[in-house]
Formats: sequence, structure tokens, C-alpha cells
Amino acid sequence: MSAEKKTPGSCLCGQVRYELTGSALLDAICHCPNCRKFSGSLFGAGGFYKHSQIAFLSGQDQLKIYKDQNTDSGNLLHRAFCSNCGSYISITRVVNGVEAFGAIVSAGTLDLPSGEEWVPKKEIYCKNRTSWLPTFEGVAQEETM
Ligand SMILES: [Zn+2]
Ligand SMILES: [Zn+2]
Repeated sequence: MSAEKKTPGSCLCGQVRYELTGSALLDAICHCPNCRKFSGSLFGAGGFYKHSQIAFLSGQDQLKIYKDQNTDSGNLLHRAFCSNCGSYISITRVVNGVEAFGAIVSAGTLDLPSGEEWVPKKEIYCKNRTSWLPTFEGVAQEETM
């Protein structure tokens, strides 16, 4: 385990900056209709991190949270995005009114060192998968979660 690994990230306009410590518990792609809408693309992509691994360096007050209640699981999701440029930053599940212990941080906002790429380990909600997408080698597929 590389507990010392630091990965920076930022939104498109640069107001929101964060740093992740260590590796994601899971890197996944989600094809559900809500992630499609929220990302503005054909699927959502992100890594699941504990809150203790996520530190905002700037712009946390710029984040706007959309309370997504219309979820397949029935869980309320806090979907956070930059209020200035609209970049999707994170998704947190809310249990009994409290944000759960971790958040999905969007892969597209990571500022990876050159030569490093974000790689998914799993695809979820494949029942909604766009049919022309090629199979991603070595990535597990789940029909729902
Ligand atoms: Zn921004
Ligand atoms: Zn989703």
C-alpha cells in the first residue's frame, strides 16, 4: 500500500483544488442515467476515497451540491460540482442525514503526472451501458451496483 502517494486534482477553472492521499479503494465507471446526466457524458468515472484521504486546498466554498434523491438505490447522493465552471468533483452517499465515510472523486478532474493514467477496475450499471462502447480489457462488469 502506497499511503504516501499524493494525487492532486482541480476543476476546469482552477478555483477548486484538492489533494488525494493514497490509493482509491475502488476506481469505477458508472453507466447509470444519473451519472450520465451529472457528468454530461456517457458515463461517470471516479475513484472511491475515504474522506480522510481527501483534502481541499482551495475553492471548497465554491462547490455547489446537488441533492440527488432520484437514485436507483434509494440513497440520497450529494453530487458536488464547481459553481463557477461546472466540473463534477465528487459524489457522496448520505446515510441518516450524514455524509458517508467516503466519496467518489471524479477521474476527469485528477491532475495526474505525465505518463500516468486513471484506470477503472469495475463498471457498474452495465444494464445502461452504451452499446457501441468497446469492452474494457480486464474490467469487471456489474449489471447494477
Ligand atoms: Zn471550476
Ligand atoms: Zn451512477
